[in-house]
Amino acid sequence: MDRLTARDPGFAAAVRSRIRGEVREAEPLARYSTYRIGGPATVVLPTTAEDVATAVRMAHEAGVPWFALGLGSNILLPDDGLDALVVRLGKGLDRLERDGDRWIVGAGLPAPLAARRTAAAGFAGLHIFVGVPGSVGGGIYMNAGCHGGDWAEVVESVTVVDQAGQDAVVPRSEVPFTYRRSGLDGRVVLEATVRLRREEQHRLDEQITEMFEWRQSGTPFNQPCCGSVFKNPAGPSRKREDGPRTAGQLIEAAGLKGFRHGAAEVSPMHANYFVNTGGATAADVRGLIDRVRQKVKREFGALLEPEVKIIGAGGEYLTVSP
Ligand SMILES: Cc1cc2nc3c(=O)[nH]c(=O)nc-3n(C[C@H](O)[C@H](O)[C@H](O)COP(=O)(O)OP(=O)(O)OC[C@H]3O[C@@H](n4cnc5c(N)ncnc54)[C@H](O)[C@@H]3O)c2cc1C
Repeated sequence: MDRLTARDPGFAAAVRSRIRGEVREAEPLARYSTYRIGGPATVVLPTTAEDVATAVRMAHEAGVPWFALGLGSNILLPDDGLDALVVRLGKGLDRLERDGDRWIVGAGLPAPLAARRTAAAGFAGLHIFVGVPGSVGGGIYMNAGCHGGDWAEVVESVTVVDQAGQDAVVPRSEVPFTYRRSGLDGRVVLEATVRLRREEQHRLDEQITEMFEWRQSGTPFNQPCCGSVFKNPAGPSRKREDGPRTAGQLIEAAGLKGFRHGAAEVSPMHANYFVNTGGATAADVRGLIDRVRQKVKREFGALLEPEVKIIGAGGEYLTVSP
């Protein structure tokens, strides 16, 4: 017997009848990804934590895979869409509240908004995310970082819900944060408590302006893309001890700026950004990832690991061939 998928109208209707938010069927995922890539799927737009719990529990009990989505700024979704249920956190799960130096930030809040609002109240810590166009939940799951900081530095606890629909508050000490990873797999981040530090307003304003200008000048914001495609390799490349170190430097040194596969292109502006030049497919981006990895490996002996999450039809994470 065929396995039930989230595309099944009966399943979608059942979820719709049990939650307050919306369930959209055959929704083009390209709308939910900064790459503007991805075919149709059943998308839940929860408005409460209970909605999230109900949707993932119903999926789990029906044997339907599910998948949490934020602002889609670090993800490559499949051209044929997903059989998995997409639980897309946004409005309704976007609270921002202050209690002394502690702030509660909802997973659905865009990180740049969290950055600006906390900074406007005179607090530093989240201000570094002013140019990182993801959600709070995606940022925590990815342990997104920039300007020398990351989410791990400010998080005190994370409220999550598991596939059985049970919520839990996980203290920072139990979140195994590492570089661009939280270890919170199999759970949906609902919100977090972060501890910020007071900072003089004029210094915060200056830093935000500087960071934003730095971003604008080095990021292809005018083209669909997903941020860094590869993580920076942990160790130095083998061939040139004093040579390129970061993923972007390695790709650029391999002469790949502007290199294309289909309609996907290594950005001429920043080599670790791949852009959709118009009508690119997930297959184009994956092909470009493979070709860039091969060339960098050949030239420098460095094996680039994707930072972007490449998603399969069942919502599973795909790996790249060595
Ligand atoms: C122009 C540009 C610049 C960028 N610059 C940076 C940068 O400087 N530093 C950096 O680290 N990243 C950067 N990124 C990448 C991206 O913005 C971050 O990784 C961001 O935190 C991802 O959040 P998201 O909401 O878009 O996640 P998504 O892309 O929606 O999802 C990414 C992963 O997080 C999971 N996820 C999303 N929401 C939740 C949730 N609530 N609970 C559990 N799991 C969840 C998804 O399942 C997926 O595995 C950049 C991206 C762009 C487009």
